[in-house]
Amino acid sequence: MHAVWRFLLDDDFVNAYKYGIVIRCLDGIERRVYPRIFTYSADYPEKVLLATIRDKGLCLCPRCLIPQSKLHLMGQALDLRRRATDVREFFWEKVRHAREWIYQFGKGIKSKYVEDHLKETSSVPTVNAFSERLGQSFNPPQVFPLSRMLVPDFMHEFELGVWKTLFTHIIRVLWAKTPDGSSVLKLNDRFRQVPPFGTDTIRRFTTDTSEMKKLAARDFEDILQCSIPVFDGLLPDQGENRQLLRLLFRTAEFHAFAKLRYHTDDTIEHLTEVTTAFGKLVRQFKDDICASCETVELPSEAARRVRRAHTQTAGVATSNQEIPTTQGRRPRELNLSTYKFHSLGDYPAYIRMFGPSDGFSTQVGELAHRLVKRLYGLTNKRKVAMQIGKRSTAAPSNPESREGSTSGATNAVDDRSFQFYMSESQNHPVDIFELIKSQRGNPAYKNFLPKLQDHLLGRKLGRAFDGDNHDDFSDKDRNTLHIYGEKIYQVGTCTFYFTTYDNRRDFDVVNPTSRPDVMARSQEDNRQEVPFWHARVIGIYHAKVSTTHNDVRPKDRGVERMSFLLVRWLGAEPGYRFGFDKARLPKVGFVPYADDGDNFAFGFLDPSQVLRGCHLIPDFRSGRTSELLPHPCAVARQLDSNANDDWETFYVNIFVDRDMVMRYYGGGIGHLDTFEVQDSDGASNDEARSSDGEDEGGSDSEEQSMVSPAVPATAGTSGSDEDSDDEPVMEDEDEVSTFGSEESDDAGDDDDDGRYASD
Ligand SMILES: [Zn+2]
Repeated sequence: MHAVWRFLLDDDFVNAYKYGIVIRCLDGIERRVYPRIFTYSADYPEKVLLATIRDKGLCLCPRCLIPQSKLHLMGQALDLRRRATDVREFFWEKVRHAREWIYQFGKGIKSKYVEDHLKETSSVPTVNAFSERLGQSFNPPQVFPLSRMLVPDFMHEFELGVWKTLFTHIIRVLWAKTPDGSSVLKLNDRFRQVPPFGTDTIRRFTTDTSEMKKLAARDFEDILQCSIPVFDGLLPDQGENRQLLRLLFRTAEFHAFAKLRYHTDDTIEHLTEVTTAFGKLVRQFKDDICASCETVELPSEAARRVRRAHTQTAGVATSNQEIPTTQGRRPRELNLSTYKFHSLGDYPAYIRMFGPSDGFSTQVGELAHRLVKRLYGLTNKRKVAMQIGKRSTAAPSNPESREGSTSGATNAVDDRSFQFYMSESQNHPVDIFELIKSQRGNPAYKNFLPKLQDHLLGRKLGRAFDGDNHDDFSDKDRNTLHIYGEKIYQVGTCTFYFTTYDNRRDFDVVNPTSRPDVMARSQEDNRQEVPFWHARVIGIYHAKVSTTHNDVRPKDRGVERMSFLLVRWLGAEPGYRFGFDKARLPKVGFVPYADDGDNFAFGFLDPSQVLRGCHLIPDFRSGRTSELLPHPCAVARQLDSNANDDWETFYVNIFVDRDMVMRYYGGGIGHLDTFEVQDSDGASNDEARSSDGEDEGGSDSEEQSMVSPAVPATAGTSGSDEDSDDEPVMEDEDEVSTFGSEESDDAGDDDDDGRYASD
């Protein structure tokens, strides 16, 4: 490898490296350009070669000299400091002496003379091409920052490394705690019930997830993002269960923040804290839970080992091996003294140096690799290179990564049509009075017409959205509203556009039969505790509406096509505390339906109030109940139309994608109100962090309430009529959130994990 690089780093390159080359740029100006090698993305075996170190030596890391015995302390204050002080360099003197012993005195590579020089630092007697050509050969010699170049690699080292190992070991623990395998069966069953999200953000888990057959990095990512509800309650011991959930939360949090595409000082700082917390929790998991039981390899691992042994002895692969019983499975422990675990501590520093980890992950290269493979399949295998070349110029050069979004929408946001798209199709007209007649007794359509009239009239009047509590409308008011032809038109999907935290335009397609859940800005006073409202869309409609109501401005009275969603509301779980500090996901449950009295279980929602779709995962542990809606009601249960009951609660998956994390964390650049916070008085990052969501803001009162989170805003005040009609997003203001920032140290706070404290 170094011979090849010595060939590439030839005299011409070195000359350009030293003195630069003059390039005429597109603007016609000539500039002197200096080629530099910033990062070299590679997997660990390749890094070992590049750094000229030993594969299984005393110092495993190509970037620092922390010995193997200390690798498991990843994230501790001392560990993080040592990474900065004990930087690995190429030991010219040591290598020179070792080479003298070998080449001039004929000593063996393993001899004491050579090892004396090299063993301590795990060096090898190879001259490093980078260090030689881009440093040592200069006059005077310079030091090439070799270790800085060898960046950590998120995909191999975390998703396919630490997380895969950890997930595997948690399943081993499940086997150890319930040897009959019932927990593992339950785990697989639950994974299969996790609903998909987005086009392919979370794909349906079909196979037995615990077997981990043929899984790629993105599958492990999905598993991580959905793991908390799935593992909840599988460990019989309450304390251990809490400890495990906390570990999974921090793992997902680390994953999300290390993979952000857009960082601020604040998010990097947070990543450092999470790294420390994660390291501590993993060590606790190993010391407490893993030590309390005897973990052995998984059946699949044992089978693989037996198969491999067979292949080696017999020389042929035998497929149908009997799976060894527990007795035949070898003990396995969680090993934290690995390079992969150690390298997690390098992310904050490397993101500061080189930008978001996407920029130096090998994932991009691997995807390109897949493209070539796919194109190869399209050739007739003759003159392959030319055929692939022709096709690859036609194919997109950078296949879209999973969260990547090119919605086709432009960046203009000052128009309702850029917030959502709903078909104007009139193929499925619904006669309102027939609907009411045919659905008599169906809870979803109870008081359908007055509720719909209230909703539409409230919008016509420009009232701020408050969940449609228009108690003050009289029948006379309602009768001023005319629904053209007494018909509403049902459509299948609604697409919601939004600006992501990293300033892209993205969208979620909501479909009542497959991806029905949406989130809106919470209109409650206690937004710190309930930052968002959640609803399940059960019908998507539009209608032509006009009104003669006196309070509606004349220009708004004419016939207008209005879109609305029939939703089943979900409410926050009472008394349940969640947030980044608590390391717990939010929980929501369907608003209970009662036959008598006011009902808020079902209602209408203006699509422009929807921020985006959301991913709700059943809280499998709490089980199902028919108490929330004690009637058969197919329309309310379209996801599972045979069911007559509902999940009692759902976990809100805040880790489903990075945009969602930043909505709950706050401070997403694309979530507009962040600008307001920072502009208004140069507020600190802490304050920026405590606001969230998209906001058009603008009025003074809004700005004030945004920078003083202590003052709860009164719902539905600010914003003139003008605003609410034209602005793309809700005219509401201070998303104080920080998502449970203030610690509520109630007595039952048994799971204070001494968050972020270094151990
Ligand atoms: Zn290191």
